[in-house]
Amino acid sequence: MINFDEQIRRALSDAGYNSLTQVQERAIPLLLQTKSVIVQAKTGSGKTASYVLPLLQLGYPSLVITPTRELAGQVSDEFKKLGKYKGINVATIIGGVGYTSQLNELRSAKIVVGTPGRLLDLWSKDKLDFSQFQAAVVDEVDRMFDMGFVDDVRMILKHTTPKVFGFFSATVPPEVESLAREFSRCAELIKLDEYKPVEEVEQRFVETRNDWTDKVSKLRELLNSNRGKIIVFTRTKERAKMLYNSLWDLGYRASVMYGDLPQAKREQNLRLFREGKRNVLVSTDLASRGIDVIDVDLVVNFDAPRDVETYIHRVGRTGRMGRNGVAITLYTTREREIVNRMKNLSKKLESKETANS
Ligand code: ADP
Ligand code: MG
Repeated sequence: MINFDEQIRRALSDAGYNSLTQVQERAIPLLLQTKSVIVQAKTGSGKTASYVLPLLQLGYPSLVITPTRELAGQVSDEFKKLGKYKGINVATIIGGVGYTSQLNELRSAKIVVGTPGRLLDLWSKDKLDFSQFQAAVVDEVDRMFDMGFVDDVRMILKHTTPKVFGFFSATVPPEVESLAREFSRCAELIKLDEYKPVEEVEQRFVETRNDWTDKVSKLRELLNSNRGKIIVFTRTKERAKMLYNSLWDLGYRASVMYGDLPQAKREQNLRLFREGKRNVLVSTDLASRGIDVIDVDLVVNFDAPRDVETYIHRVGRTGRMGRNGVAITLYTTREREIVNRMKNLSKKLESKETANS
């Protein structure tokens, strides 16, 4: 086991982290030696602590960039949890909320976690100096490309002067590697897990008519036969809103998340789901990345994901840390082709494994 200092060891034991996960075993020693890393490791495998722990131990002023506000909050919480005996202050710098408390937090924060827009906003107003950071991490880094954040991320990283960089995701396509190499030419590429959903999740696919009523009735069957926590993903915010309303009309106590919702509502709705006060969360892909609700049993893709990466990450909201889960994808004739690619992610590898053994 890595030789963490006393304060971190106590926090680890409080958190119930009795042993390190595979990605933590690989990434932490490198980061502690200030070697930069690009890490592909499966969903729910503990990537957050694999950078949080070494950054706490190094004691560097550090910046973590995430694609969504909720994920920034979650990463901040991990820093607070594992850094609680170090008395380290963390600032969460996200959009959709006021400036005052963030500016206060920034005054004493050694760790800053944020989304690209607000980070740049404060930087351009001279309220935040990127050059103070000696470590920089981009979590869910490939998602920055889809969301059009990649130039913002580049801009931020260009103004930091870190000794060490980390780039993390369950899906690291080649463009991520080249982005990382712009900043750290000899970053070590760690590909721990294959580009596919976690094996603990049973994947099912159900063809439906391209028809709201048909989909809702399929969904109701699923909701009625599952008592645990369920996340239902839709393609658009309009559909998320509509489905949320339909579910309440039908007597389900659902929660909902999408981008246009006021930030306080977004957070409250996620909290209600996390705490089990709502057992169904309807969401756009806002919740598809990084969100760690450890006891989600079922993921339903009410609308098929737009690409295989989105599929891998949505499915990864269940089956976390070795737990079991089920993911059910409803799809229409039009989506057959893309859904075949999703099915093949796991199939191809299985047949390769059989051939090898
Ligand atoms: P990832 O970023 O790889 O999807 P997370 O960092 O969100 O995964 O971690 C998934 C879950 O595992 C979290 O609930 C976290 O608290 C827990 N976890 C992380 N590291 C450990 C560990 N060493 N031992 C036990 N649980 C852990
Ligand atoms: Mg993560």
